[in-house]
Amino acid sequence: AIQIEGLHKSFGDLEVLKGIDLSVKRGEVVCVIGPSGSGKSTLLRCVNLLEEPTSGKVSVAGTEVTDPDVDIDRVRRGIGMVFQAFNLFPHLTVLENLGIAQRRVLGRDKELAERTARHNLERVGLTDKEDAYPAKLSGGQQQRVAIARALSMEPELMLFDEPTSALDPELVGDVLAVMRKLAKEGMTMLVVTHEMSFAREVADRVVFMDEGVIVEQGTPDRVVGDPQHPRTRSFLARVL
Ligand code: ATP
Ligand code: MG
Repeated sequence: AIQIEGLHKSFGDLEVLKGIDLSVKRGEVVCVIGPSGSGKSTLLRCVNLLEEPTSGKVSVAGTEVTDPDVDIDRVRRGIGMVFQAFNLFPHLTVLENLGIAQRRVLGRDKELAERTARHNLERVGLTDKEDAYPAKLSGGQQQRVAIARALSMEPELMLFDEPTSALDPELVGDVLAVMRKLAKEGMTMLVVTHEMSFAREVADRVVFMDEGVIVEQGTPDRVVGDPQHPRTRSFLARVL
């Protein structure tokens, strides 16, 4: 579903991605781990062109997004993205937050948008919150709303950038449970996370990045359980 070849990204003189090759198959869950500043967010942001790659090729669901002629809005519609910050509209209810992009971007009528929104609120366990405003929800509930909002656009794949790292520890589990369920349902997911137990349990593949390169990748048991590279070992020794 995602194919990345020879991806480079620089900000001025700073080369942040130094030739990344990575593919994510349909239905696969790939977790990206690595130290702060290693380029994980930049990699994710290059997939939906929130950042423009300096060179290299990125394809999503068979469409080369780095092709200058591509309709990037159409490609982005198929990619759900969940960040550390939830970015819900504070003046809209949960149901309205889930409806607005469906109506504006997909042109759905109110009824279909609401039906889809309710279905996805159920998937994240928040049916009783549709009339609440974001400020009345816990961080974990807000993040689940953000996931439901992304799902309401019927994405082909989901990108997660440390979706639990802004949450109080006791709220992390609920969000991870929703992500685990999505993975089981066969969603294609590329997940940047510091949650090693999630990566071990849910990922089909773990990718360790450091200083803009993929240092090693493989099954969670291999990369997290039995890392080969000294940089992976020292990173894991710090986080585990
Ligand atoms: P973290 O774990 O802290 O989120 P990360 O692996 O996601 O780190 P990135 O956010 O991808 O790292 O950043 C990689 C490097 O690129 C950092 O040195 C950062 O300062 C730099 N960088 C990221 N975005 C920009 C930007 N828009 N302009 C300039 N430099 C940037
Ligand atoms: Mg980051």
